Amino acid sequence: MSLVQLSPRVEELRRLLTDFVQSECIPAEAEYQQALGSGPQRWQAVPAVMERLKRRARKLGLWNLFLTKEYREGAGLTNYEYAVLCEIMGHSPNIAPEACNCSAPDTGNMEVFAKYGTAAQKERWLKPLLEGRIRSAFAMTEPAVASSDATNICTRIERQGGGYVVNGRKWWISGAGHPNCAVFLAMGKADLAGGKHGQQSIVVVPAGAEGVKVVRPLTVFGYDDAPHGHCEVVFDNVWVPAENMVLGEGRGFEVIQGRLGPGRIHHCMRSLGMGERAVELMVARVQSRTTFGRQIVEHGVVLDYIAKSRMELEAARMLVLRAADMIDKVGAKNARKEIAMAKVLVPSAVLAILDRAIQMFGAAGVGPDTPLAEFWAGMRTLRIADGPDEVHTRQIAQLEIREQNAKMAARKRSAAGVGPPKL
Ligand SMILES: Cc1cc2nc3c(=O)[nH]c(=O)nc-3n(C[C@H](O)[C@H](O)[C@H](O)COP(=O)(O)OP(=O)(O)OC[C@H]3O[C@@H](n4cnc5c(N)ncnc54)[C@H](O)[C@@H]3O)c2cc1C
Repeated sequence: MSLVQLSPRVEELRRLLTDFVQSECIPAEAEYQQALGSGPQRWQAVPAVMERLKRRARKLGLWNLFLTKEYREGAGLTNYEYAVLCEIMGHSPNIAPEACNCSAPDTGNMEVFAKYGTAAQKERWLKPLLEGRIRSAFAMTEPAVASSDATNICTRIERQGGGYVVNGRKWWISGAGHPNCAVFLAMGKADLAGGKHGQQSIVVVPAGAEGVKVVRPLTVFGYDDAPHGHCEVVFDNVWVPAENMVLGEGRGFEVIQGRLGPGRIHHCMRSLGMGERAVELMVARVQSRTTFGRQIVEHGVVLDYIAKSRMELEAARMLVLRAADMIDKVGAKNARKEIAMAKVLVPSAVLAILDRAIQMFGAAGVGPDTPLAEFWAGMRTLRIADGPDEVHTRQIAQLEIREQNAKMAARKRSAAGVGPPKL
């Protein structure tokens, strides 16, 4: 759903993408899982069906849609237009985003290379990422420190000769298990003398560099999310040339802010798609079974579940579309309150919807025969990943207080006859 009339091109993309997701991605989900198999094999090869779907998406023009019009390498859409399309991919979150080369963490990493990369970095990393030939990971979080405050990150990036030596232990690094993961963007301290926000830097670390060890894949409520996974990774005396520094020493915060702005709401956009699929499944299910002499849908409480789910999904979508529109109009920095509100509200709303859908399926809802349990597990992590709810809530409150105080000050100035009120 869109609040404004979309251009004929975006309408056509929407039609093509809906058809691709419904008739090719969702039907491929079972084949994909089966081909992944079990045990170590799950990390060794990407099921052939994915490469087939990637070729198909590319042919249909459903490729790299996330990279908005300020990047010459992108599809030329606005964030708002992408929000409408990204939600459709969210109906099949394990297949459609990767098939369309629009999956995290590559999207954020490609934005970093496109926005801050040197010509050489773009040629070596951005080009194959945009072509879907390699994948990438973003390595910030560390087991030893509370990483929701990125000033705590303590991996060292030390200048040595013509390059840097990286030492540190990271975990929950999404994508690090993927057989095609060729590159990490790693965060660490290069300049201990810099101020609180001037110590962190981001360097490009090739996955094949000596000293890079993927220690183990972690699981999310038992799901391994193979073949990309979320892994513990050690950088043990990894040497990289000086030109692998992104943007400059001590500029890591600038880079992560650029990376996480639109990237945070991409997760929200996909979440809406998962919420829509949950509602579809719930509504079909409650009309297909009978208890105590009537269809499950005829029990009053179930109507309440359906209505609440629809209302919450619509409200969540408004917030996502508004944040996307704000990014387009005033930039991610000035839209940070709207981004944070979507990042907090959407996963919680969709979690509640998934929970109701699971309930309507009874025991089947927590098992492997519907996507609901896996969606729930993934959605629950979004209340933590990319910054926990509390950190974003704190930022929303701080920005709200600042805005209210500015309004009050303007009114006081106006009452004192010092210029017009600035609202
Ligand atoms: C599935 C998944 C994928 C991930 N992928 C990546 C990835 O690709 N790359 C990467 O670098 N990281 C990744 N992460 C890590 C994620 O970004 C971090 O877990 C997150 O930033 C929180 O850091 P932490 O785990 O160290 O929690 P901590 O910083 O230890 O915080 C723990 C809890 O403290 C509370 N808290 C923290 N600050 C405040 C506050 N100001 N007010 C009130 N309460 C507060 C919150 O409830 C928080 O959950 C991923 C995590 C998951 C689960």
